[in-house]
Amino acid sequence: MVEVQYDAVVAGAGPAGSTVAGGLAQGGFRVLLLEEHRDVGRPLHCSGLVTPRTLEEAGVAEEIVLNRVRGADIFAPSGRSLSLGDGDSRALVIDRVALDRALVARAQERGAELEMGVKVVAAERAVGGLRVTLQDRSQRQWTVGTRLLVGADGAHSRVARALGMAGAGERICGLGGEGVLPGVEEDRVRVYVGKSLAPGWFAWTIPLGGGRVRLGVGSGNGLKPIECLRRLFATHPEQFRGWKASFWTGGTIPLWSQRRIVQDNVMLVGDAAGQVKPTSGGGIYPGLVGARLAAQVGREALARDEVTEDSLSAYPRAWQQELGQEFRRGSDLRRVYVSLEDRDFDRLLGIFGHSALLRAANRYGDIDFPGRLFHRLVRLAPALWWFVRGPLRYVPLWR
Ligand SMILES: Cc1cc2nc3c(=O)[nH]c(=O)nc-3n(C[C@H](O)[C@H](O)[C@H](O)COP(=O)(O)OP(=O)(O)OC[C@H]3O[C@@H](n4cnc5c(N)ncnc54)[C@H](O)[C@@H]3O)c2cc1C
Repeated sequence: MVEVQYDAVVAGAGPAGSTVAGGLAQGGFRVLLLEEHRDVGRPLHCSGLVTPRTLEEAGVAEEIVLNRVRGADIFAPSGRSLSLGDGDSRALVIDRVALDRALVARAQERGAELEMGVKVVAAERAVGGLRVTLQDRSQRQWTVGTRLLVGADGAHSRVARALGMAGAGERICGLGGEGVLPGVEEDRVRVYVGKSLAPGWFAWTIPLGGGRVRLGVGSGNGLKPIECLRRLFATHPEQFRGWKASFWTGGTIPLWSQRRIVQDNVMLVGDAAGQVKPTSGGGIYPGLVGARLAAQVGREALARDEVTEDSLSAYPRAWQQELGQEFRRGSDLRRVYVSLEDRDFDRLLGIFGHSALLRAANRYGDIDFPGRLFHRLVRLAPALWWFVRGPLRYVPLWR
């Protein structure tokens, strides 16, 4: 029989973990929030491009906004490009460290107890809950008992691995950096596509203002991101002339796939649950949605003292209800995307350059819902349908 000290232990004080911890503590439960690093939000592995909807979901003020984005330029390896955007600002560049700090502060205000520099290293089942082994930075270990363990510990979730819940979905190896890029547009994102450049993924620059940008690149087939970066600079030398990096970080992006994210006494949220857009790798918004729903369901389960897989399953069902269709469409789009050769990107950018499609893309473009936009465009333009039909024959039916 486990000796229960906490109603909930939450591993990881990223956006997902802090949101769940605050939401559970709000219900009057005793919640322990653990963060393995000593500094919230650091090291940083994120470019911080989000929608205004994300800030609303987070309940965080616009003070963390560093810049507003009004459009995007997409470049194929041939140099062919497509400009998107109608002048409206649809995306924000945020101070990601400030977001994490604001959410941790709110979790504490709501009553969660925070332990920094402490990580979950193991978890085992016992009657009445789980026994969780914690370790501090001087390697000291101890155990705590809890009725609910939330794994919000990111792409390499220890909680998921300890309890046999690690997903088998695709993982993108990313490299991100920040620096100065002379001549960069201050309110436009650049996206560089091409199988020869970043196979299975893409490269990007996101303006911060004052000539500073966040630059990133990823690959989906095991090619080292540093090699993708070399190819990016070699393919578009004039666009990166004068680039000076201040720092670089690596990171893994665990793309969404159908998987189990609850068990008796356990829930996974955010990157640990693979709640990451399959098209762009954006995980802040879907992770926050997951965290809100996990907190709601967790509160109810704790209140009834019925922390079983059955009662916790209301959480993945609610997440599917809110984002499942978009993510299934996103996965379909990804299957098409990985099948494209460099020459296909030229053709695709040409098709998108068609004025009716461009108008629709500018009007309905939304980085949280690319699948919904593509669905609309396919209905508008049969040419697009014919173009993707080849790869899409592997997709059961356009959803
Ligand atoms: C290069 C790159 C660029 C990106 N750019 C964007 C972007 O522009 N927009 C966007 O929406 N998304 C972006 N993402 C994805 C986004 O960063 C993640 O989806 C998001 O951070 C997930 O939040 P989370 O709270 O689930 O996990 P995380 O933010 O990873 O937080 C997990 C926390 O758990 C802690 N932790 C880990 N293990 C343990 C343990 N055993 N015990 C205790 N604590 C632990 C970690 O230190 C960390 O603080 C990017 C990712 C990468 C790699």
